[in-house]
Formats: sequence, C-alpha cells, structure tokens
Amino acid sequence: MTEEARRDQHPPWDDSYTGGTPAPWDIGRPQPAFVRLADEGRLTGQVLDSGCGTGENSLLAASRGADVIGIDVAPTAILRARAKAAERGITARFEVVDALDLADLGLSVDTIIDSGVFHVFGDEDRARYVTSLAAALRPGGSCYLMCFSDQQPGDWGPRRVRADELRSAFRDGWTVESISADSFDINPVNGARQAEAWLATIRRS
Ligand code: SAH
Repeated sequence: MTEEARRDQHPPWDDSYTGGTPAPWDIGRPQPAFVRLADEGRLTGQVLDSGCGTGENSLLAASRGADVIGIDVAPTAILRARAKAAERGITARFEVVDALDLADLGLSVDTIIDSGVFHVFGDEDRARYVTSLAAALRPGGSCYLMCFSDQQPGDWGPRRVRADELRSAFRDGWTVESISADSFDINPVNGARQAEAWLATIRRS
C-alpha cells in the first residue's frame, strides 16, 4: 500500500501530526519512564517501538546502542522521525506499518516499546494487538508498555486502563512481571503537564 493510501485509511492519526500545535504526547523528548528503562539497560538488542509517533523513544534506544525499528500508522509522524534521526546522526529505521499487522514484518525482536499505544485500541483491536505483538517478539523477549491509567482523573485524552485489564489482555502466552504506577509527561492539557500511567513489564513465554 502506498503511503498516500495509508494516510487515507487512517486520516485521524495522521491529522494529529499535521496541525501547527504538537499533540499532547508529542513532547519532543523521550518519556522519563523509558529513559529510566534505558538507564537500567533494558532497551537492548533489536527493539521495536510500536506506534512510535515522531520517534523520541526509538531514538533514545538507538542512541544507547539498540538496533531499532519504529513503526506508526501515521506517515507524517514517520517522516518526522526519519528527519530527527538524520538531524541527530542516529541510525534507526522508521516505517509506516499498522501495529495490528506486525506479523507481516517477519520480525523476532528482543524488546518492544509501547508508549501510549495499547490504550488507543478498543476491546476487539486490543486482542488483535496483543497477538500482533506476540508475532513480532521472540520467546523470552520483553515488552515495556505504558498506558493511561484509571488513576487519571478527568475525561479528556485516551480511555483509561485498569491494571487488571492489562493482566487479562496478556493472560495467554505472556508473563506480566510487573505493573507499576508511573506517569506520562505531556504538553499541557487543561493545565496538566503529566498524566497518570501504568508501566508494565511483560515477558513473552
Ligand atoms: N509512542 C509515541 C506516540 C503515542 S500516541 C509517543 O510516545 O510519542 C499513539 C500513536 O499510535 C500515534 O502516533 C498513532 O499514530 C499510533 N497508532 C494508532 N493506531 C495505530 C496502529 N493501528 N498502528 C500503528 N500505530 C498506530
């Protein structure tokens, strides 16, 4: 499929990247939670950043020596991620790919990053997404997933996720090693600069 055809297929997501103002999540730097994971040496080997947006978490992992592929359904985000990589002299691959069809990539990565993507999917796509992640991750590989948490008040932004929903989504073929309270840094929304999150470490059996 051409990038134009994909843009037509997913116009709302691409629109998040074509306005003048960056989207709330598009903060121009990696999420602190992923910086911590990188500092702990967890973003290593071949890394897939699923729904990478403009690529900050991908570029973080790549700058620490990981072999990174970032994918997103929004072509404008991917073009921006490629431009940032070039500007910063960082080697990483960025492709327009649907995260629900990761099997098509034929990957078997060591590590998956999901920063703010699981929470965009409704129940049906959520199950498809988890299957798709499993197809791209080698057995024993780790997925680090951060999503909006039910601890976040208000009704703006994405659907809130409960820790037990995470556990049940990754029930079969995975071990949920930890789910801890964390936060997203965001561009201000209603005056808020952070949003409550769950950070999950999930290992593929
Ligand atoms: N991880 C990025 C972006 C989070 S916002 C960051 O931390 O900045 C959610 C992202 O998921 C958006 O970039 C959106 O384009 C992408 N997305 C939504 N549905 C997708 C799908 N089916 N496949 C791939 N990416 C998707």
